[in-house]
Amino acid sequence: MRPFAYAAPGSVDAVVEALRTARPGTKILAGGTTLYDLMKLGVEAPPAVIDVHRLPELTGISVTDSELVFGAGVRMADVSDHPVVRDEYTALAESIWRAASQQLRNMATLGGNLLQRTRCGYFRGTEFACNKRNPGSGCAAMEGHDRHHALLGASSLCSATYAGDFAIALIAFDAVVDVVGPAGERSIALADLHVEPGDDPSREHVLGPDELIVRIRVPLSAAGRGSTYLKIRDRESYAFALASAAVGLVIDGHGVVTESRIALGGVATRPWRAVEAEQSLLGRPLTAEAARRAGEIAFAAARPGRANGFRVELGIRTVADAVRTAGERAVR
Ligand SMILES: Cc1cc2nc3c(=O)[nH]c(=O)nc-3n(C[C@H](O)[C@H](O)[C@H](O)COP(=O)(O)OP(=O)(O)OC[C@H]3O[C@@H](n4cnc5c(N)ncnc54)[C@H](O)[C@@H]3O)c2cc1C
Ligand code: SF4
Repeated sequence: MRPFAYAAPGSVDAVVEALRTARPGTKILAGGTTLYDLMKLGVEAPPAVIDVHRLPELTGISVTDSELVFGAGVRMADVSDHPVVRDEYTALAESIWRAASQQLRNMATLGGNLLQRTRCGYFRGTEFACNKRNPGSGCAAMEGHDRHHALLGASSLCSATYAGDFAIALIAFDAVVDVVGPAGERSIALADLHVEPGDDPSREHVLGPDELIVRIRVPLSAAGRGSTYLKIRDRESYAFALASAAVGLVIDGHGVVTESRIALGGVATRPWRAVEAEQSLLGRPLTAEAARRAGEIAFAAARPGRANGFRVELGIRTVADAVRTAGERAVR
């Protein structure tokens, strides 16, 4: 690991000022469970880090009349066991519960979770060509092992998946992040936070280097109660998704779906909302065939490579199973 400077300002205002005057490449440090990892591998080499891990202004989970609010510095472990999140937004709680390990969840924050980087092995191995790590150098995954690579949203320069779980549940529920920077505060829909690789895979989100996520807001939704986050992985814990789905449904007294939310994880280059799949369920009774059809629509645009084609059918079944579980919860 290369030497780097460390500072821990005592307030959000002081962090913003420190970022404004920071050396190029300076990074925000929260739990460090991704950033320090990448620094040790030599993938990231910031000249300085600005630690926001102990800022009281970034902590706390609250419920208002219209939304659920998470401080960006809330530890993952505090989310899955929160009674309101568990009961009213089951998919959010489950997305955290199924992420990483207990030790990591005790240390890692929500803001850091949203901005974690891909687990593409070629990105993390500095001996390989990687357009994300070293723009213009090429992409070793294109001719290499692509079992974990994206089926949706890839470009000819990069097919790395977005690895996080929480953002998938958040995007299904129209969450917003509040961000502060030198120009003040702004809000960004989670759907607009991450970007597809396109012709610049090194750019993963729309935040400036001097902007800090301060909170995440999730509008109240009846679909939160009838929701689930289903994650399929190579082993039952401590593994990233091969395919995942966050689904939330509202079903009326006649058994008809009146609200539908579906997002996909592990299969795309960014958190992926499956709008057409959602619409296919609306105004109809929820049957096993309708659930399967929603999965097929969600993956209609999938573009498999050499070794990841099995994840199309896996993804379809993941959506179908999640839709059925959400349906059962919605009529409880
Ligand atoms: C072995 C292992 C398994 C894992 N498995 C999973 C999994 O299954 N699912 C999953 O979702 N995650 C998984 N993770 C990732 C883990 O959840 C993330 O490492 C963690 O959430 C990052 O949070 P952090 O607070 O440690 O972030 P840091 O490592 O401190 O920061 C991560 C990035 O976010 C930026 N950042 C942090 N906070 C802010 C902020 N407030 N504003 C702006 N930028 C910020 C940092 O600059 C950095 O670029 C795993 C990690 C490991 C090591
Ligand atoms: S898929 Fe993306 S992250 Fe992986 S090697 Fe290619 S350019 Fe790099």
